[in-house]
Amino acid sequence: MRVNRIIEKTYAEGPGCRFCIWVQGCKHHCVGCFAKELWSFDGGYDISVNEIISKIKSVSNDICGITFLGGEPFEYAEELSEVAGYIHSINKNVITFTGYCYEDLQKKSNADMLLNQTDLLIDGKFDEGLVDYSRPLAGSSNQRFIYLTDKISGEEFEHYKNRFEIRVSNKGIIEFNGMGNIKKLQNFLNKKGG
Ligand code: SF4
Repeated sequence: MRVNRIIEKTYAEGPGCRFCIWVQGCKHHCVGCFAKELWSFDGGYDISVNEIISKIKSVSNDICGITFLGGEPFEYAEELSEVAGYIHSINKNVITFTGYCYEDLQKKSNADMLLNQTDLLIDGKFDEGLVDYSRPLAGSSNQRFIYLTDKISGEEFEHYKNRFEIRVSNKGIIEFNGMGNIKKLQNFLNKKGG
């Protein structure tokens, strides 16, 4: 499968410390998407399910779950369902973002593989006209939190605040992840870079 990015431990993509995978490739092309570099299926890099699981094993004592983001995770439903199966086997939880609506996923071929291994689904395309950063993790108010199991509940988000994490590599490259007012963050980073 192709991924754009993996962060082994982050506190900015859901409750607790989480392993996160941004898959490469998305056909939704939402207007106002802040991750256009993730649209192409040729970008990113190849990684196998076993390689991902091996990375998870190295941090499994520190994480409480995994978050799949994109790109569109359901383009890799089979591979991610295997990763999620491993996560469940070690009693951790799974959050999956998708640009599809839950109702469409229920009819989409192979989507059930990942749906059956997802505890919380955050669904729907990003809608630029409905931008709302007041809720955790979601970027627009049309996107829904659908709790598919009781492994995660709304109570875990009661004290959760949107946040960004900023990483600076030893080559001086600045990367960020998380959720919030991305335009404000980009202005901040542009000023720092300038
Ligand atoms: S689903 Fe996500 S990655 Fe895909 S276009 Fe929409 S906002 Fe961008």
